[in-house]
Amino acid sequence: AKTLRLILGDQLSHQHSWFSKKDDDIIYIIMEVIQEQSYVKHHIQKIVGFFMAMRNFAEELKKEDHQIIYYKLDDKSNLQSFKENIQQEIKKLSAQKFEYQLPDEYRLDEQLKEICKELEIRYSVIDTEHFYTNREDVKDFFSGKKQYLMETFYRDMRKKHHILVNKNLEPFGDKWNFDHENRKKYDGKYPLKAPLLFKKEVSEIVKLLNDKKVQYFGNIKPKEFPYPTSRKEALEILYYFCEELLPNFGRYEDAMLKEHHTLFHSCLSFSLNLKMISPKEVVEQVINTWQANKEEIDIAQVEGFVRQVIGWREYMRGIYWDQMPDFATKNYLNNDRDLPPWFWDGKVKMNCLKYCINNSLDHSYAHHIQRLMVIGNFALLIGAKPDEVDNWYLGVYADAVEWVQITNTRGMSQFADGGLIGSKPYVASANYINKMSNYCKGCSYDKDKRHGENACPFNSLYWNFYIKHEDQLKKNPRIGMMYRLIDKMEKSEIDAILKQSDIYLSNLPSL
Ligand code: FAD
Ligand code: SF4
Repeated sequence: AKTLRLILGDQLSHQHSWFSKKDDDIIYIIMEVIQEQSYVKHHIQKIVGFFMAMRNFAEELKKEDHQIIYYKLDDKSNLQSFKENIQQEIKKLSAQKFEYQLPDEYRLDEQLKEICKELEIRYSVIDTEHFYTNREDVKDFFSGKKQYLMETFYRDMRKKHHILVNKNLEPFGDKWNFDHENRKKYDGKYPLKAPLLFKKEVSEIVKLLNDKKVQYFGNIKPKEFPYPTSRKEALEILYYFCEELLPNFGRYEDAMLKEHHTLFHSCLSFSLNLKMISPKEVVEQVINTWQANKEEIDIAQVEGFVRQVIGWREYMRGIYWDQMPDFATKNYLNNDRDLPPWFWDGKVKMNCLKYCINNSLDHSYAHHIQRLMVIGNFALLIGAKPDEVDNWYLGVYADAVEWVQITNTRGMSQFADGGLIGSKPYVASANYINKMSNYCKGCSYDKDKRHGENACPFNSLYWNFYIKHEDQLKKNPRIGMMYRLIDKMEKSEIDAILKQSDIYLSNLPSL
């Protein structure tokens, strides 16, 4: 009796126990379907990256003698939805059983449950075996708590998995967290390295998308597609990171530069989220590299990185499964403004946004601080609709899969969850952007002015944000100081700030 096994586009893990033995009666199905191209408008590099990685994965499995059915987007028999293709193949093969791996996206989880309900054959579901935690762990860990403090979860993960702790479960370096050492502007002390890029030919897939009239946005260079699309290449990115970038990862984690959009970041999110590599092997490789090079790499760099992977990444996934589907409708601050059109074409005068948005459109990538403290910060300050902000983020980044995108965007960045993830909104004025970047130099706006000619929009919008949301934010002990500063301001200063922010809010497309 034959079994049909579904592999989704973000389940490209050779290490899964499914593949440990070959069986001619097990047939795997991987599909490119219009359904997945149209739930949001994606960046062209995101679609191309997924398709190339899926095609490589199928080829590699075939070479290992697994039985594979692969639907290309333009195959005549492709019915363009998971449901119809699965039903069609079950019939064709006379399969007696259907199996799938737990999807990481709520929408697909629901859809697969529905598909299975209608099947007349047996079915079963298995874990992806990718994460350290399972869907419910974060929920159980914080059961009964109003706020989910990442730091307590992270320390527990360190102990539970014996990561950077000694025999008594005390942290290496005598501290759990070296975050305050990791907030430097780039000072040129350590030379920058070019990111490791793969120059691939993509014209065939671009043509396919055009032929099938798939809607997309963003830029792509036909012969220079940069993303890793196989496990081998994902491992190359990991080794490159460990050798070249890890020694300065934490130090410059929050820094931003006009000349370099990745700095010392790993660029591993795409490989991780498609499961071409696992978080465990990433963490192991990083720790092994550190242990073999303790004179060159200090613990602060390593701890900073490990926190992102075993802390933030697992925590966000757990929040997602705890909070969905309600999370996707949250809008604590009742924000209702549209994003200005330059989010899609990069034509904006503000230097910081110009660089961050254009590098997102050019590379389908931005590092964390660009996403959080420039683009997300601006969207929150103008009161943009969380749905629209989510759609932009889910579309623009190659690594954007909903479980990690929506929690970071709607939760951490847009405060739409009212403070479940972040204890206060991540907003900042030009002062912060100037402290962490070289964007303000040469900008047509004046970073030091709150109002008046060429005043930096971040400044008036920042104070306007606190004044406008006083009812929701004043009671927050981490924000009280802002309101004491506002209380000390002259009324004429407040009036001028509010007038300036009104002008900017009414002219967002021309900023
Ligand atoms: P590095 O800085 O090198 O970090 C290493 C790894 O840690 C990353 O690859 C990632 O897997 C993990 N990581 C780091 N920060 C986070 C975080 N906050 N949450 C979860 N994992 C984290 N990440 C995504 O993978 N997909 C998204 O769609 C996504 N959307 C985001 C939207 C917003 C508004 C913000 C503020 C952050 C978002 N992030 C997202 C988190 C983070 O910005 C990216 O993971 C990171 O920039 C990817 O680049 P990197 O691999 O070079 O990361
Ligand atoms: Fe951005 Fe303002 Fe600095 Fe210009 S002056 S780069 S708009 S923070």
